[in-house]
Amino acid sequence: MTQVAVVGGGLAGLACGVALADHGIAVTVVERADRLGGRASCWRDRVTGDVVDIGPHIFHSEYHNMLALLERLGTRDLICWQPGKVLTLASKPKPTVLRHYPLPAPLSLGPSILGAPGLGMQDYLTMLPTGWRGMRFGEEQVDELDRINGLAYFRSLGVSEALIDWWWRFASMVVTNVPLERVSAASLMRIHAQLSGYRGLHFGFAKVGLGELYTGQAVRVIERAGGRVLRGRGVAYLSGSERVDGVVLADGTHIPARQVVSALPPHDLDAVLPGRWRGRAPFDVLPRFEPSPYVCCYLWFDRDIKAERFASHLWSPGRLNYDFYDLSQIRQGWRGRPTVIASNIIYSHRAHPLSDGEIVRRTVDELAEIAPRAAKARLLHAVVHRVPMAIPCATVGFERMRPRARSPIPGLTLAGDWTRTHMPCTMEGAAKSGFMAAEAVLAERGIRADLAIDARMYDDLAGVARRAVPNRSVP
Ligand SMILES: Cc1cc2nc3c(=O)[nH]c(=O)nc-3n(C[C@H](O)[C@H](O)[C@H](O)COP(=O)(O)OP(=O)(O)OC[C@H]3O[C@@H](n4cnc5c(N)ncnc54)[C@H](O)[C@@H]3O)c2cc1C
Repeated sequence: MTQVAVVGGGLAGLACGVALADHGIAVTVVERADRLGGRASCWRDRVTGDVVDIGPHIFHSEYHNMLALLERLGTRDLICWQPGKVLTLASKPKPTVLRHYPLPAPLSLGPSILGAPGLGMQDYLTMLPTGWRGMRFGEEQVDELDRINGLAYFRSLGVSEALIDWWWRFASMVVTNVPLERVSAASLMRIHAQLSGYRGLHFGFAKVGLGELYTGQAVRVIERAGGRVLRGRGVAYLSGSERVDGVVLADGTHIPARQVVSALPPHDLDAVLPGRWRGRAPFDVLPRFEPSPYVCCYLWFDRDIKAERFASHLWSPGRLNYDFYDLSQIRQGWRGRPTVIASNIIYSHRAHPLSDGEIVRRTVDELAEIAPRAAKARLLHAVVHRVPMAIPCATVGFERMRPRARSPIPGLTLAGDWTRTHMPCTMEGAAKSGFMAAEAVLAERGIRADLAIDARMYDDLAGVARRAVPNRSVP
């Protein structure tokens, strides 16, 4: 009998499988798709032979769980870090380059934004109350802030409308994938506090395809411990009555298991739950998780268009794309090649009625605003990936809906970026959820293991302010 069945071969499921394998447990991972990696996967483009991701992803230097997983799998050095420049924002008439100045956190990025076109000193001063709250932000505030949207919250703190339009509408879309008027203030403030609270926080990108970072390596670890990874085999439903006792695949095969980990997104979990469990908390809210869709474009040019490695447009109502990545400056062995660009259309409903051709045309136009040579270059090839859900929307109430790893059904543990990790829905959140699920599985067997890594205390002034908050938990 399989000891533990893990449903879902994305990052959360594989992180859990690896952690359990490292404790000598034979797991069976069941993945519906032919390819592992879920929303952090990659494949070979048929025309060019290049490995492309589902969409471009960024890592950052505080991704402790994800980096621990890569360390375990021997691929940690396949992240290309960008420590100097954090990000170039395509503000008009001149770009704003975010970089850290030698100041204590959370002030180090401040000088980069001072002087941003369209903002004046009175706008920056209205940011002070938000900055103060960000330094003191911690998980004990999440329940309360989860009841209010980001726009109402920043207005209540007196942030100027110019700064809301310039910074917060952009930040909300790129970090939570939800517009400011819908985002949970708790979800947005958590990310703000983390991005500003750590000294020198910087971004990184995969030098290889995302799935190449961890899927094959994870399978080897799981198999070495006596486990297996089934691909192209969807779970139809979880079996059991009072406790879960295995999974039944779409072809009717029953895989008995003492413990089951669901590493599925909310709607997929809802679809495999037996009817009698569906109405019970925390499963009753599963249909309310709303997907944030993406459209991701890959563009192959005939020449080097001298693009930034990583640049983003600011928010404006009619714009399609936010972030652009020049893969020829990121992928191992691609230096010197003509430019290959990847871009993200986030919360992409506005792009859905457009044809792929129209999306490509507008993406090239928007790229040319950042890298003017794109307008003159010949586009050799382009692909458009339509992704129904990048992450669940962190709308008002989202944080309170997120379930804990331990479910009320004995033997059933939950993982996935959307579960209660005290993290945003990211690769880091997914990896942490996998480790948390493994801890819960081991605890049921009487084994105590500390696998998941919590966010550390903020640095410098942010840390001083946070430590002064009475009854504080971890940040
Ligand atoms: C375009 C895009 C851009 C992103 N950008 C970033 C970024 O810049 N930085 C960042 O950190 N994160 C980013 N993310 C988010 C990140 O990819 C996800 O948070 C993470 O991959 C989620 O992993 P998961 O294992 O929780 O879920 P998933 O990857 O969704 O894994 C669930 C798996 O379960 C499988 N499954 C579903 N139903 C069944 C069934 N019935 N039986 C068996 N298997 C089933 C699915 O096929 C899937 O493989 C982005 C995501 C996308 C799509």
